[in-house]
Amino acid sequence: MALLELRDLEVAFRTREGIVRAVNDVSLSLDRGRTLGLVGESGSGKTVTALTILGLTRSEQTEIAGEVLLDGVDLVTLPESELRDLRGRRVGMVFQDPLSSLHPMYRIGWQIAEAVRAHERVSKKAARARAVELIRGVGIPSPEARVDAYPHELSGGMRQRVMIAMALALDPDVLIADEPTSALDVTVQAQILELLARLQSETGMALLVVSHDLGVIAEHADEVVVMYAGRVVEQGTRDEVIGAAIHPYTLGLLESIPHVDGPRMAQLTPIPGSPPSAVDLPPGCAFHPRCTYARPSCAELVPALLRVGPDHRVACPVLAPTSPLTPDKPRR
Ligand code: SF4
Repeated sequence: MALLELRDLEVAFRTREGIVRAVNDVSLSLDRGRTLGLVGESGSGKTVTALTILGLTRSEQTEIAGEVLLDGVDLVTLPESELRDLRGRRVGMVFQDPLSSLHPMYRIGWQIAEAVRAHERVSKKAARARAVELIRGVGIPSPEARVDAYPHELSGGMRQRVMIAMALALDPDVLIADEPTSALDVTVQAQILELLARLQSETGMALLVVSHDLGVIAEHADEVVVMYAGRVVEQGTRDEVIGAAIHPYTLGLLESIPHVDGPRMAQLTPIPGSPPSAVDLPPGCAFHPRCTYARPSCAELVPALLRVGPDHRVACPVLAPTSPLTPDKPRR
């Protein structure tokens, strides 16, 4: 049994403009010690998927269907009190913007210690000692001194390390990192990704990295799930999705990755157009208005995910190999 498994997850929000179907039919699984990259542009549903794992999209305006199984226990139906206990302790999260996630008025060591004390009965002294060790563990120099720093006294990269330390305070089984590097420059991004990979190999935790940047995912993920307009359009192992991409959207994301060591004047090819509004999705394949391979039939039916390799699935009947193994199931 996978450590974390999403089965047919659907998330819809009731808004004044109408029902926003943010996540449709998303299924994926993640094992201990593995990294799954969830990638897509803004509005693709990737962050809503990640937040739903933690129960952070629950509200009276939200309809959630399907299953989020952690060691076989469905988090979608778990009472809020049990879910709250599980957040941080079994599933940790690192958010995009450390400055808005850290309290500006409190020292970082205090904030990490409080994260520990929220779930464990330990003395303030023991929690502070743990904070120092966690700060050391995420590669911040002079942890005994930095433990008393305020967030504004640290660089963006250091603040992101503090967020990671806080998320690791309770030794979670799964760490979800939502755009963990997007606010950082390229060098610091690489350092944060290397840090996450090192911590994962030390702890054996499962890592779910959410990013709009396939370049971030390409280097570190074992499995890749590409989302567009709330649906999975391609998923598989890294070699299948990065090395043998089929879906035009994945191909477009790959072409728009800047190569630091590439020719200076190498042209990036952005995907034409912009993602659709979630309240007014195009019919059929939602990517068809931007797709250079589109044909009239593409606007008629939402493409099923077709299995085209051992773990490789793609939602494009036009470009999938002519005899796909099996359609998983029709899509609504
Ligand atoms: Fe493009 Fe059609 Fe494939 Fe959609 S189904 S990705 S529109 S070719």
